[in-house]
Amino acid sequence: MKKFFCVSGAAVLFWLLGGCSFEKTQQVQSVDTAMGTVVQQSIYTREADSGAARDILELTKSLEQEMLSRRLDSSQVYAVNAGAGKPEGTEVSEELAQILRTCIRIGEDSGGALDITLGPVVQLWDMDAWAAGERTGEFQPPGEEALTEALGLCGRDKMQLWEDSGESSQGNGGEAEDHVDASVGGRVILSAGACLDLGAVGKGVALDRILVYLEEHKEILGAVISLGGSILTYGEKPEGGGWRVAVMDPFDTSAYVGILTLDGGWCVSTSGDYQRFVEAEGVRYHHIYDPSSGYPAQSGVAGVTILSHSGLESDALSTACFILGVEAGLELAERYGAEALFVEKDGRVTMTAGMEQYWSPVGERIPE
Ligand code: ADP
Ligand code: MG
Repeated sequence: MKKFFCVSGAAVLFWLLGGCSFEKTQQVQSVDTAMGTVVQQSIYTREADSGAARDILELTKSLEQEMLSRRLDSSQVYAVNAGAGKPEGTEVSEELAQILRTCIRIGEDSGGALDITLGPVVQLWDMDAWAAGERTGEFQPPGEEALTEALGLCGRDKMQLWEDSGESSQGNGGEAEDHVDASVGGRVILSAGACLDLGAVGKGVALDRILVYLEEHKEILGAVISLGGSILTYGEKPEGGGWRVAVMDPFDTSAYVGILTLDGGWCVSTSGDYQRFVEAEGVRYHHIYDPSSGYPAQSGVAGVTILSHSGLESDALSTACFILGVEAGLELAERYGAEALFVEKDGRVTMTAGMEQYWSPVGERIPE
């Protein structure tokens, strides 16, 4: 018996909004799909005929098509992967180079838990297709030999990122950012067979771009934008009070374990073993892999939610913390000035001290 499951990426999930009765303020709401997940938007704007929701959807789609997708041949990441094995590598934009640098740094700071070179392993498991029900038949985990072969193509040493200045962030550990000049792009050199996968950070990157858009549009007073498991709060609600973001119950995805009450400017990312998985012979195989084994990570965590002012960091850290487990995950989040909340497999909830002020467990009165 095979069971597959896909919460369309939605980990944290819904917001509780009051109606908008304020004169001249419109509330625009929409639900679409992009980046393989559900995009839910709620925007408070002074403009009667606001195209903001459409613009935000478009910019999310174009980010995937032009930069991040591993599958679409129009993207920079696709070109980088297609160029694997070429000694001269592939040129990338300044924005992508910056994203890759941050991923490399968080990869190093997480002891290799976040590994954007894990493409060969991600492809081998093909969990997105299984979880979405696109692949049918009897699910079989990959064989040892195939997994060892795929793992052999992954790792920090399979990728070099050269600045246009001619310097490489290869092999210089946490110092990778020291010589970064934001005005230059870069060149990525991948070993033959290597493959980048930015699935762990794509939605967070999109939230960062969406924040820039919102800040440029002064008619927008407040918004909450959800891309599957990553949510952005922005500005204020006309009727006052914080934005409420529920944290899904990993054991019952129709329920939630608590609510975060947040002001504008937060990115909230959740990674969990209940988002995309397939079950075969009583074993759950999910979509976040431990780079040391190539198997779905087993750290005792069912779900972890990260709060950060950076979308990229919130998304990268949620994936890394899921793999690291509670103790090392808390340390990593604190190192980045982020807040973290873990739900363990035994139901225990553990969080950073700074998270407590935002958190109301289910059943408790939610602050206004
Ligand atoms: P989601 O994208 O479902 O919200 P995550 O942000 O945790 O969840 O990212 C999971 C995705 O990241 C996987 O689908 C895969 O593409 C990629 N991935 C899986 N394991 C790792 C890892 N250890 N390091 C980096 N990326 C990973
Ligand atoms: Mg992530």
